[in-house]
Amino acid sequence: MLQPRARLRPVRTAICLIALSLVTAAPIVAQSVAGSNAERMPTLGDASDLTSAAERRLGDSVAREIYRDPEYLDDPVLMDYVNGIWQPLLAAARLRGDLSPELAERFAWEIMLVRDRTVNAFALPGGYLGVNLGLIAVVSSRDELASVLAHELSHVTQRHISRLISKQGQQTPWMIAAMLLGILAASKSPDAGSALIVGGQALAVQSQLNFSRDMEREADRVGFGVMTQAGFAAQGFVSMFDKLQQASRLNDNSAYPYLRSHPLTTERIADMQARQAPGVAGSEPIALTLEHAMVAARAAVLANPGVDALRAMQALADGIALPGLIAAKQAGVLYGAALAASQLRDFVNAEIYLKRLTLLVQADASAVRLVHLLKAEIALTAGDAARAAALLSAPALGLVSRAGPAGQTAEMRRPELLLRAQIALQSGQGAPVSNTAAIKAIAQDLQTWLVVHPHDASAWQLLASVYAVQGQSVRAIRADAETQVARLDYAAALDRFKAAQELVRQQRTNNGGDGAADHIEASIVDTRQRQVQALLKEQALDR
Ligand SMILES: [Zn+2]
Repeated sequence: MLQPRARLRPVRTAICLIALSLVTAAPIVAQSVAGSNAERMPTLGDASDLTSAAERRLGDSVAREIYRDPEYLDDPVLMDYVNGIWQPLLAAARLRGDLSPELAERFAWEIMLVRDRTVNAFALPGGYLGVNLGLIAVVSSRDELASVLAHELSHVTQRHISRLISKQGQQTPWMIAAMLLGILAASKSPDAGSALIVGGQALAVQSQLNFSRDMEREADRVGFGVMTQAGFAAQGFVSMFDKLQQASRLNDNSAYPYLRSHPLTTERIADMQARQAPGVAGSEPIALTLEHAMVAARAAVLANPGVDALRAMQALADGIALPGLIAAKQAGVLYGAALAASQLRDFVNAEIYLKRLTLLVQADASAVRLVHLLKAEIALTAGDAARAAALLSAPALGLVSRAGPAGQTAEMRRPELLLRAQIALQSGQGAPVSNTAAIKAIAQDLQTWLVVHPHDASAWQLLASVYAVQGQSVRAIRADAETQVARLDYAAALDRFKAAQELVRQQRTNNGGDGAADHIEASIVDTRQRQVQALLKEQALDR
């Protein structure tokens, strides 16, 4: 306990840890060295903390690299589940006054999933929060996951990150972003290989970017308040702590990078025990739900895409011990096995697991929904778009009419919407005429969705494909440009907007005139082109 911290935690990192490829970090480091221009540096603050605007811009530049990383994953089912926890936490933090309206407005407050089997979550500048699939796979309840997210959220709302970064003094934001990315790259899963190359460099900088023990205790305290205010069970905080303690005793640091950034100091454990007292000690452990078990299984499968791991998931469902487990555990095993089987293109067995799963979950609406989505997903993977479409049609989802405010029907929930778009695109291949109605409907639904969620890159990307299938080239290029905007890559977006403008010019020359619709589209492209040009200029100033 009294040993120097460096000896206790040789690989301790600050902004918690993540797995990112070396590929993303290296070019940034190079650029930042070449372009470090202290006199052009914006407000890193001469006295106290980084301003929220500067922190957001810094976060954006880190997020942009993460979006480009092949390990970044927007899985709509997992995102939906995690967001279902994250949004109430944000609301609670606002209600308690931990999150100011100014910061709520200024920061991104966005979850980024990372395809890494190790247990980790990490707060980045500007309200971005990274979550490894390994963490989702290992928690036993929404409440446990909420306790980790609330802790990380509190690092951001308590401005711990801005304080750490302010301490960097003369460094340009661009340099700090490079440091963060170096740390992230160095903390990649041991099995990811290449990352160790930057290890030395990252080690040199990370000692300057550690959260202090006091910051960790504050994040525990505020996070606990936020999660219980949001309605999550305090027991989740306790059981997550127990889980980490157990892993810590087993010295399982390589599987739990979270432990390296969040060592269980005696102070934290004492705080935890004090918190346990009011009504939590001795209370029943939180029961595993069908829904949670299936979501955790999905995360485990997606985090381990290798053939051997997929076969092992399948083998669990064939084991003789399965019927002896509680229903939720069985559901998790069967869900994982069905998804794994379909990824191995073993659709016969996938079907068998799905049948067993359906019988198991039928009394639980949220579990039924997940199984329904999985069935449609597997039908699509098997190439049966018609069956997939039927599974996600209005009657199948228990809808009579599609009327109602946008975004409120079951069809318009994000996982359903994005899957319907993929299905429409796949069934459109080779038979564009027969599928016109489905394509038209999904184009409309995606547009409606994007009015409310303009930063949804995956939705923009699907809309671009839908427009392309419809032969609407200018719109397709514009939607593609918006995909890049949503991923904060303004340079790539600008290229595409210019390409769209060029296409408009060509079409006008060829047709010798233009229709009203073209006119509107062309003016949207012009406006967006100018806006993105301005954003790009701002970004350049940050270097
Ligand atoms: Zn922490």
